[in-house]
This record gives sequence, C-alpha cells and structure tokens, in this order.
Amino acid sequence: MRIAMIGTGYVGLVSGTCFSEFGTNVVCVDKDEKKIEGLKKGVIPIFEPGLDTLVKNNTEAGRLTFTTELEEAAKKADAIFIAVGTPPGEKDGQADLSYVYQAAREIAAVIEGYTVIITKSTVPVGTGREVERIIREERPDADFDVVSNPEFLREGAAISDFMRPDRVVIGAESKRAQDLMAELYRPLYLIETPILFTKLETSELIKYAGNAFLATKISFINQMADLCEKVGADVHQVAKGIGLDGRIGRKFLHAGPGYGGSCFPKDTQALAFTARENNAPVSLVEDVISYNDERKRRMAKKIIAQCGGSVEGKKIAVLGLTFKPNTDDMRDSPSLDIIPILQSKGARISAYDPEGMEEASHLLSDVSYGKNAYEIMDKADALVIITEWNEFRRLDLSRVKSLLSSPVMIDLRNIYNPDEMKEEGFEYLCIGRPLSA
Ligand code: NAD
Repeated sequence: MRIAMIGTGYVGLVSGTCFSEFGTNVVCVDKDEKKIEGLKKGVIPIFEPGLDTLVKNNTEAGRLTFTTELEEAAKKADAIFIAVGTPPGEKDGQADLSYVYQAAREIAAVIEGYTVIITKSTVPVGTGREVERIIREERPDADFDVVSNPEFLREGAAISDFMRPDRVVIGAESKRAQDLMAELYRPLYLIETPILFTKLETSELIKYAGNAFLATKISFINQMADLCEKVGADVHQVAKGIGLDGRIGRKFLHAGPGYGGSCFPKDTQALAFTARENNAPVSLVEDVISYNDERKRRMAKKIIAQCGGSVEGKKIAVLGLTFKPNTDDMRDSPSLDIIPILQSKGARISAYDPEGMEEASHLLSDVSYGKNAYEIMDKADALVIITEWNEFRRLDLSRVKSLLSSPVMIDLRNIYNPDEMKEEGFEYLCIGRPLSA
C-alpha cells in the first residue's frame, strides 16, 4: 500500500510518519520548500515528543519520503490524504476551506487508477461532497472515492494518540473505499481499536461535535471554578467528585485560563456557523465560545487585581506561552490575549517557555525572553504561570521568592497548593481553590 499525505504540519507529519511506522509506504507532500528541505535532512519543523526518532527510523527504512511535488507522489498512491490547514475564515467563524479545495484540484490533475481521497483535515459537513464534485468536474474520467477520516490526536501526545486511539472514524460509502481504509488501519485491530464506519456527513460532524463537547466540558468546570471562588468551595474536589461518576468522566475537568490552541477555538466557531447556516443553532456552543473569549480577558483582570489593582510600570514574569505543554504551538494560546492586556495597562513582560518563544516572538511585541524560568523573575513584581510545563511544577520556591521583588504568584493552572504557598510566604492566587482555613 502506498499513500500520499498532503500537508506536512502537526497532523500530516505525525499521521504520515505513524502510517509508515505501521509498514505503509508514505510520501509526505508540502508546498513549504523550507519545511521539506529540512525534513529531507532530518530537521523536524515542529516540537512533538518522539517524532524525530520515528521520522529518522522510517526515513532510513525507506518507507517515509518528503517532496514538494504532488504529481509523483499521487500517481502511484492508493490513497491520498488531505491534511492541510482549515483556519478560521473571515466570515463569522466559518472555516477557510481554500487549502482543502486547492489540494482537491491539484489531486484531480494527477491521479491515475482507482484512488481513495481522504480528508483528514477538520472540515465542516458538506466538504467531502464538495471535494468529490471538484474532482469529478475536473476529471470526469477519474476512478476515485472521497472519504472522511477526521484526526483526534492531541499535540504533545500525538504519536501515542495516533498509534493507540480511542477510536477511528471513517466516513466511507463504497465497499472499495471501506476495504482500503480497513486495510490501512489494520495494525490497530491488534489493540482492538473500535473503527466506526459512517456516511461522509456523519464522520465530518463527529469531529466537530467531539471538540465542541470537550470545549464545553472545560468551560463548565471553569464556570464551577468561578462559583467556587465566590462560595469558598474547591474546584479540584468538585472536579474529582463529579469526574468519578462514570457518566461524566475525569478528563477535561481542569479549571484554567480558558481553552486555546489550533482546534477548539476555530472548531467551535465553525460548528456554530454551520449550525446557524442550517437553521439549527447550537446555543450551548455559542455560549461556550463567548464565555471562553471573555474568560481570557478576565484572567488579565485577575492578575491586575492581585498586583494591587495596577500593573503600571510593573514587571510581570510569565512562565509558559504555548496553549498547552509539550508543544511549540502558539495558535490561539491564552497568553496571546492575556499578555497584550497587561502591556496595555503599563506592565513590562518578561517570559520563558521551553518551546514556544521562537513562535511567540512573531506574535507578541515588547516581551523580553529569558533562557530559563528563573532568569525572567529577577526583580519582577509578580510571577504568572500560564502553561503547566513539567519544569514549572517543582520550582525552587525560596529561589523564586528571593528573585521576585514581591512574592506574588498567580497560578492560572493550579499546579501549586494554596496552603503550601501561603506557608512559603507567597501571596498566591489560583483558580477556584480557597485556603483551607
Ligand atoms: P498546519 O498548519 O500545521 O499544517 C498544514 C500544512 O499544509 C502546512 O505545512 C502547509 O504548508 C501545508 N499545505 C497547505 N496547502 C497545501 C497544498 N495544497 N499542498 C501541500 N501542502 C499544503 O496544520 P495542522 O495543525 O496540521 O492541521 C491540519 C488540519 O488538521 C486542520 O484542519 C486541523 O483543524 C486538523 N487537526 C489539527 C490537530 C492539531 O492538534 N493540530 C488535531 C486534529 C485535527
């Protein structure tokens, strides 16, 4: 079996590499020449734990190659995945599908023999049918099927998520396409991964419904944290108490600064757009979107309040810039909302992130970056934790205190204990957790 993977980003590179690890021949295609040149030399364009070794092993084994030329890769392929970006468009959260449709036109020009064309990108309901229409229009003679196979991997744990997924969803309507997809995912049968075959539309909607549900779960616990702060309850215990109920489940119940990243914000908006367009508005999801947007601004207000009501002329040290740990992805990270607000109120920002500073430097201005967590704290008026990288979980607190000009810590990820922080002499603020006495 040979496949071509169009788009060599967070999803395409991980999926392509993992398929090659399963023994499939994979050609990863990207328009970005620099990226492909780098990959050919073993330079991984993103930070994703374990990916470098996997790319190296499979490249050396001759199963994984990289190119900017779709034609050569597509001609011999049994299946072509579209894994290009679907960023927010200009209109009301509608997904920008121009990269997907462009890829479809390019595929149409080059396929030979029966080919399955698979959208792995997150695409709104109806996109698969449109991809089908575009290819049919350009190549009435072509022998192909269009399949939807949304990706559920999480950045930072992408390889294990791909190799050991909770389920695989495949929207395929012909027996030929279903058989090919089943063969492609056959290595997962050994670990008994459920594979769900559906219609195209159902598969496309499953991806959005899943992300919207998770975003709702996060927003729900964040609202509980708001309430905990008013009534003196502890959101950690509330999360545990409800999460142990099997109907609810323990995951995605961590209160924090609001969800961010390359998927939840844009996917909730795209789902809400589709729902409005089809006269079936998803008001719950609309509320989640506006609450989450407002929440990030409220985090900045929380920080300002903890700094005595003003950050004018103050130095604020920020630990963590990426939207979550173990990735260099800065897309829609809460730090991109919080930091500019603090700056607009007169704060000077010094920041450190293990992997995100390069990308952050293009997205944030007037931030001074440090080489490690402690360097940025020197004479800072407050320390703010925005992302819970492991290396921030056990800071040397006496060193932190001696570096800060006042011992103020705002922990937006709840990684420290309020009572212990008080004992250490910090003015500590977290999310939805009171002191025990
Ligand atoms: P990305 O921006 O990291 O990568 C997209 C790549 O596609 C880029 O390298 C770009 O150069 C390339 N590209 C665009 N048009 C091309 C074309 N015509 N030919 C060749 N290459 C082309 O995006 P990503 O984060 O990998 O996301 C891809 C899709 O997967 C999106 O729809 C996203 O919503 C979805 N998704 C992302 C994640 C995630 O965690 N990042 C998880 C699940 C699903």
